[in-house]
Amino acid sequence: MSITAIRGFNDILPTQSEAFRLIEEEARRVFTSYGYSEIRIPVMEKTALFSRSIGETTDIVEKEMYTFTDRRGDSVTLRPEGTAPVVRAFIENRLYNGLPVTKLFYTGSMFRYERPQKGRYRQFYQIGAEVLGEASPKVDAEVLEMLMGLFKGLGVSEATLEINSLGDARCRPAYRKRLLGFLESKKAKLCNNCVRRINENPLRALDCKNPGCVEATSGAPTIIDSLCDECRGHFESVKASLETMGIEYRVNPRMVRGLDYYSRTSFEITAAGLGSQNAVAAGGRYDTLVKELGGPDTPCIGFAIGVERVALLIKERAQKSSPLVVFIAMGTEAEKRSLNIIKTLREKKMKVVADYGTGSLKSRMKRAHRMGAAFTIILGEDELKEGVVTVKDMEKGVQEKLSPESIVERRISQWA
Ligand code: ATP
Ligand code: MG
Repeated sequence: MSITAIRGFNDILPTQSEAFRLIEEEARRVFTSYGYSEIRIPVMEKTALFSRSIGETTDIVEKEMYTFTDRRGDSVTLRPEGTAPVVRAFIENRLYNGLPVTKLFYTGSMFRYERPQKGRYRQFYQIGAEVLGEASPKVDAEVLEMLMGLFKGLGVSEATLEINSLGDARCRPAYRKRLLGFLESKKAKLCNNCVRRINENPLRALDCKNPGCVEATSGAPTIIDSLCDECRGHFESVKASLETMGIEYRVNPRMVRGLDYYSRTSFEITAAGLGSQNAVAAGGRYDTLVKELGGPDTPCIGFAIGVERVALLIKERAQKSSPLVVFIAMGTEAEKRSLNIIKTLREKKMKVVADYGTGSLKSRMKRAHRMGAAFTIILGEDELKEGVVTVKDMEKGVQEKLSPESIVERRISQWA
């Protein structure tokens, strides 16, 4: 038996990698224009970083982490998410001594031991961004506007934004109590997992996908109704800014997210056309995490985008994004002449593949088609004599003769 990849660990093959590239390029461009800089975080961290920040009683820490002991016997974990490592780096490198506000983004793979299915893998890619050191609700709205703008720019049109507020240390304890009281009365209907952690982390029951729990918690008290004045004011201000910017949203008072470090604004973006794994990005405020991990009091907000899921949505667009030109030179003289033309086209950032086939023009055209050519350029004896090349649009089936100079002047998209 040949060796296969590990379950849930995928190869990102050419058409998919093209979509990844488009998403990453667009994210880089957009984030940079909002003043974010890139950070590259390690793929592995000390286990305590994740268990302390994400929370001991979350699904991620309880059952999804790839945790090992290394050769020295230290417990290490493949990162399941990027926020905790960014915060660790922020503290460890004292980035708070530099700029008044630190804006960072990252891209890379995350690891979670989940049941693999469409849109859910054990190694998956995220692009995330974090703002460290800004408490204003205006930045919450700006982050959301940036994220929705990114999806729009990528052509993900049917993206829906849901927001909620999770309150803070002042108002969450009271809510927790109310919720706990409610859950106690529904205990018989909850799954074992929710019952087990009902005391330590009652909020988790609202995030449970188990149908019984969803039903049992449908009438649960909402955090929105328990917010203190400060959290309510913050939430109202975020909503007002979103409205000013024309960003559509829906308040989902049940959304609690699967990580314990969130406070106040939390959000999730879902997209149509993905089936049940339809969340393409999620995030929120985490105003106390930096302090909890040993840094100075630093209010923060951030999010992460699921790259595979977005790639599924832009697949077709990605395939068309950089059309392939196959160059067929017929005969020794044409081959020689073609070298310079191809070089110039590539310098103009066109994607050109020289065909080294030997058969008839017809068979070589077929080969070009099989290679996925959007356009074929033919340089044969006739073209040589006339000082032109023939450019064929493979989809439309039309062709025209052009001088080599004019094809380098004109972009491929203008040929058709
Ligand atoms: P979900 O509810 O889908 O499990 P989550 O709440 O665990 O998501 P986050 O930890 O907030 O998700 O991660 C942000 C985004 O990363 C998700 O919205 C999703 O697009 C993507 N994502 C999370 N887990 C996976 C996975 N196992 N495989 C692929 N993408 C994932
Ligand atoms: Mg999850």
